[in-house]
Amino acid sequence: MKQVPLLINGDMVASTTEQFINVTNPANGEVIAKTPVTTDDEMQRALQAAKSAFETWRYVPVTERARIMMRYQAILKREQKRIATVLAEETGKVFDDAMGDVWRGIEVVEQAMNAPSLMMGETVENVARGIDTSSFIQPIGVCAGITPFNFPAMIPLWMFPLATVCGNTFILKPSEQDPLTPMLLAELFIEAGAPAGVLNVVHGGKDQVDTLLNHPDIAAVSFVGSVPVGQYIYRTATDNMKRAQCFAGAKNHTVVMPDANKNHVINNLVGASVGAAGQRCMAISVAVFVGSAQEWIDELAEKISEVKPGAWNDENAGFGPLISAAAKQRVQDLIASGKAQGATCMVDGSDFVVEGMENGHWIGPTVFKDVTTDMRIYQEEIFGPVLCCMCVDTLEEALELVNSNPYGNGTSIFTASGAAARKYQSEVTVGQVGINVPIPVPLPFFSFTGWKNSFFGDLHAYGKQAVRFYTETKTVTSRWPEQDIPSGPNMTINLR
Ligand code: NAD
Repeated sequence: MKQVPLLINGDMVASTTEQFINVTNPANGEVIAKTPVTTDDEMQRALQAAKSAFETWRYVPVTERARIMMRYQAILKREQKRIATVLAEETGKVFDDAMGDVWRGIEVVEQAMNAPSLMMGETVENVARGIDTSSFIQPIGVCAGITPFNFPAMIPLWMFPLATVCGNTFILKPSEQDPLTPMLLAELFIEAGAPAGVLNVVHGGKDQVDTLLNHPDIAAVSFVGSVPVGQYIYRTATDNMKRAQCFAGAKNHTVVMPDANKNHVINNLVGASVGAAGQRCMAISVAVFVGSAQEWIDELAEKISEVKPGAWNDENAGFGPLISAAAKQRVQDLIASGKAQGATCMVDGSDFVVEGMENGHWIGPTVFKDVTTDMRIYQEEIFGPVLCCMCVDTLEEALELVNSNPYGNGTSIFTASGAAARKYQSEVTVGQVGINVPIPVPLPFFSFTGWKNSFFGDLHAYGKQAVRFYTETKTVTSRWPEQDIPSGPNMTINLR
């Protein structure tokens, strides 16, 4: 059985632990590798390696750091299919979607290549007579990243390329459920020329994360995962006086106006709701039909019912299995609760299996209508291929529904009216809005701007905000007099 290595100080090493977590192929339940639960001694070695590497890495010119990102981008593009295959095998994602997971990470590396301009400070000459002020952007030290299972390429790549190109060193603790992809990304980062200790990778769960959260050498923590863990990490990290940015769960609504293009709506909602088996933090899990758009629900349900789950290398498969048996059980329980609480289950995927892969964690596409806000299927993040359809009479009612929801990751509106779209984008209390675009994940020159219970912190992932998160600003005020200044002591706070 393949044991997943650790990356400590530039070396891929086998952990000496006796505790392991199985990595399973979700399509058939077979164990394909085992994740080591990193020992305390190994955690301390990773922390020490990152600390020592920071002392030299921070002074490597930003142009050289950016060139490593250029090589890394080229290597990731060269190896995209290989990475996507490893990713598809351990997550069950269908191959095209796995390629997309890698690609959206490569785009962040492309943004990291711009570090010299992103790290430019500001200067004002002559802020007072003969005095200039400049600001410099400097790295903050050792940063840590804790990532979820659902994007094992994209989300680690949201973090360590930008953190390290800014001059920091990094400790990544990827999801224990699919660590093979992040390890391959780490191996390729070393191949691109990242010096020893700049990136370290440890594995495990709460205990290993706690070691990072409580360690004085960690300056900042980036987290992506579920709400309770995100809240715990935000509280613990900030209690320890660290910076933290924690991206958490979601319940994303699409509002469908009756003037929208019906075919466009239906085609977009199929992929946005059940694509990746609904295991996307930006998946559309609630569709709100306004007025006569409610007549389209039957057709949408019909179209969703035609999507067939299957193995990652089955070209006809629309999406793969859920990540684990526990995830499948949770989604089955939620579907049962929807029926028990009075929603109408139009398409029921709870007993779906793929022939020949009966031990896989399958759930078929599922659509509910007559959903109300008191139901568990509305209140909880299902994280499965389940769409809840709701009906309202007006755009105002739709806005009230969306804005009352505690999550604020993403939302979209389908309409032909500029006025309706503008009202929605202006008044909705959600951080990422799509207009006739179902899943509005911004490209990396913007930032990933979830709000409310979908994000705890101030500075978001990637884009300029991530550069600010991973750096500190230093302002220098200087005077270089050409001759002795004859004035006496300055007893005021004013510059003279
Ligand atoms: P998770 O919270 O179970 O795990 C995320 C990470 O935290 C993993 O590395 C895990 O090992 C670690 N962890 C788990 N329990 C912990 C604990 N008690 N203390 C410290 N660390 C702990 O999340 P998941 O199931 O891997 O991922 C799915 C969730 O992630 C969904 O809720 C989804 O919405 C969310 N997500 C959010 C975004 C976003 O940008 N907002 C993106 C992707 C996924």
